[in-house]
Amino acid sequence: MKYIYFFGARKAQGSGEMKDLLGGKGAGLAEMTRIGLPVPAGFTITTVACDYYFKHDRKHPRELAGQVAANLKRLERVTGKKLGDAKDPLLVSVRSGSARSMPGMMETILNLGLNSRSVTGLARTTGNERFAYDAYRRFVQMYSTVVIGLAKDELEAKLRAMKERLKVKDDTKVPAEAWKQLVSEYKEHFRSKTGRDFPEDPQEQLWDAIGAVFESWMAEKAVTYRRVEKITGLLGTAVSVVQMVFGNTGENSGTGVCFTRDPSTGEKTFYGDFLINAQGEDVVAGIRTPMHLKELQRRMPEIYEQLESARRLLETHYRDMQDMEFTVEDGKLYMLQTRGGKRTPAATFKMAVDMVSERLISKEEALMRVKPEDIERLFYPVIDASLPRTDLNKRRLATGISAVPGAAVGKAVFTAHEAEEWAQGGQKVILVRRETSPEDVGGMFVAQGILTATGGKTSHAAVVARGWGKCCVVGCEQLDIDYAEKRLRANGRVVRQGDWITLDGSEGAVYEGEVALIMPELPPAYTTLMKWADAVRRLGVRTNADTPQDARKAREMGAEGIGLCRTEHMFFKDFEQPERSHERQLAIQEMIVAESGDARRKALEKLLPFQRRDFVGLFKAMDGCPVTIRLIDPPLHEFVPHDRAQQEEVARKIGVDAKVVIRRVEQLREANPMLGHRGCRLAITYPEILEMQVRAIIEAARVADQIIKKAGVKLEYSVGTMIELPRAALLADQIAEVAEFFSFGTNDLTQTVMGLSRDDAGRFLPDYVDEKKAGIFPADPFQTLDLPGVGMMIKWAIDRGRKTKPKLKIGICGEHAGDAASVKFCHQVGMDYVSPSPFGVPIARLAAAQAVIEERAAGRSKAKGKRKK
Ligand code: ADP
Ligand code: MG
Ligand code: MG
Repeated sequence: MKYIYFFGARKAQGSGEMKDLLGGKGAGLAEMTRIGLPVPAGFTITTVACDYYFKHDRKHPRELAGQVAANLKRLERVTGKKLGDAKDPLLVSVRSGSARSMPGMMETILNLGLNSRSVTGLARTTGNERFAYDAYRRFVQMYSTVVIGLAKDELEAKLRAMKERLKVKDDTKVPAEAWKQLVSEYKEHFRSKTGRDFPEDPQEQLWDAIGAVFESWMAEKAVTYRRVEKITGLLGTAVSVVQMVFGNTGENSGTGVCFTRDPSTGEKTFYGDFLINAQGEDVVAGIRTPMHLKELQRRMPEIYEQLESARRLLETHYRDMQDMEFTVEDGKLYMLQTRGGKRTPAATFKMAVDMVSERLISKEEALMRVKPEDIERLFYPVIDASLPRTDLNKRRLATGISAVPGAAVGKAVFTAHEAEEWAQGGQKVILVRRETSPEDVGGMFVAQGILTATGGKTSHAAVVARGWGKCCVVGCEQLDIDYAEKRLRANGRVVRQGDWITLDGSEGAVYEGEVALIMPELPPAYTTLMKWADAVRRLGVRTNADTPQDARKAREMGAEGIGLCRTEHMFFKDFEQPERSHERQLAIQEMIVAESGDARRKALEKLLPFQRRDFVGLFKAMDGCPVTIRLIDPPLHEFVPHDRAQQEEVARKIGVDAKVVIRRVEQLREANPMLGHRGCRLAITYPEILEMQVRAIIEAARVADQIIKKAGVKLEYSVGTMIELPRAALLADQIAEVAEFFSFGTNDLTQTVMGLSRDDAGRFLPDYVDEKKAGIFPADPFQTLDLPGVGMMIKWAIDRGRKTKPKLKIGICGEHAGDAASVKFCHQVGMDYVSPSPFGVPIARLAAAQAVIEERAAGRSKAKGKRKK
């Protein structure tokens, strides 16, 4: 088994396609080497080795030791240096990287190979003792925290104390002697905590680091990140061992991060941060505020030119926006990482559409690049631009750097942990930190928005928030945050934990209190891309709407009809004339209390005009599009009051004895209403309710027809059924004899197939999805269809139904219709349409198009396979 892939001297065993095996980082390094970019040499241990490690009680595969030794030899040959050498030592970084980007969630160790002998060699060959000992103390710190798990705070405290003693602020001003001293302090600390000496043997260091990188795959923060990002099915992390290059050798060196296009707006401009005389992690950590690439262009024009050509090369090569890490060592540029860059939802649409017009990608590729979350996040609110500026300015606390646009309102909370607690209690929070670290992702995820006092656009907070499209303001230096007191001071005001604040991520502004937010305008690229999606998809997309307002909203979102209109509210709520709601309520209550069919009909007569009017409104709003109406569904006891005083009042209004009402309510009581006297079962006992509803619908359709004046449109209707119970699905062939369409109600179908009450499942279902606990379901079955169980039931019903009636129209209504994975399934099993809530409509349109594209791709690769045979 080959566990290691080498890269260096312009050749690489791996390639960009091998992300699953080499991780994004390893694959990127191999690919950049292949296309001739300046990349330091190294080798990548595969994710298969990581998988083996966890499956075999944290032991490495037998062959690994030999393969590491051989690849290290090769690296030493290519670089002309030896690991741990006292004269001219090779130093390496040991870097994590999985197939899906998890920024900052796993560990990396830099400057490995330093010990008390090799550090002198490094000082001598570079002629820079200060630099050599700075590198050494960084290594001792990273090894102590990452490999051993010692607290970072204690080590940083020693660093701070030393700087205070010397009265210097900047790391770059610390002299060699002081770094030397700090290294001894660190080693002493190490000895007192672990009872042994800091390891001198580079081989031991290397194997410890490899193990620690593997371990970081299962670290709490990494597991949390995968949970919130719904990343499943990966083998683990790869480990890349890379020759070190140094950005901290002096003023002619530095390190930076850049994007081939602006990740906030999608604009085609070169974008990034650079720090002079610094090592890799300094930029992301947000310790010093970096300079812009423009400034780099001024100070190091040649480097900038090289970087600009790397930008062009990488973008045309990958045909996507790239996020790159680079280091300049004594005026020489090295590329250290490239990956598909995280971007805001608006930027996602803009880049996808722009790249099609630049002929970089096809329309199909553009459609595959947008994720359902991008659409969801496009609808995140913004600050109402019509609000008076002066009022806003009065409330302004501070202004920082806009990291992710959009706006957010919430209560200020100063720790990630409390943010999670508060959010769980249903509160809206804004996480306020000096800076964020990977431990904070849980709290960042639940927050409405994120605010930090330090850091730039490439800081941890900015990168993570951008991936979620979550409003984020960073580098807000005017904020004076006091964690102990849980408050911040700014602009002469104090905000305590729990006080409301508002963030404007587009302007980088922070306001006191709750500022009104509105829906944003959708970018033109959104409209363009959705048009492409509509042209590709086969599935129809309708919506669930009960009122004319909802119906209009849904049509704006692109719905082509109503897949489910629930009529229950028509029995107790008047949306047009709310003050008349009680008339409807009384009519239905009178019907419920009535003793004979005739008396019930009389009461229902009163409801008819109301419901007819509601339907007219709905049909008008849908302007000729199809509407599927569900006749009464809930059990009757939902329409009568359950407390004595109200029952007496109802009796008085109807003109019967209170006892009659009380007895009736008593009779209607059900132990398990979900499985009770409801839906079509009501029609068996009370056919007159349905008669009234059907009359209201047909009469309304006639009226609406005249109003809409669609020339030649005849009243077309069909009668079908929802499928929500296993027995209905099992006997679908018989039902299809009388039904003209099926509409799967997958919320209830999931409950009944699984025998799982959705209302109670919230308490234990998370354990089923938790990868550390049971990991039984890949996702919550009420969000994403349970394909093996519920999906099989649906397939069966479709097959059976269409055996009886080949043209049987089939759709799905329910939450799943707005879930991309479930929509793709609906496409595959041959449904005619899906019907989500209005906000799910664009997601369904996109997912339906993606389903077609995926099908085509699968067809192509199948055809290719056949030809090969
Ligand atoms: P992350 O995934 O957290 O970005 P990386 O493995 O990319 O972790 O490394 C952390 C930092 O160290 C980055 O800024 C990276 O550019 C830098 N770095 C990693 N390897 C080297 C190396 N061989 N030489 C110089 N800098 C490096
Ligand atoms: Mg990196
Ligand atoms: Mg139902």
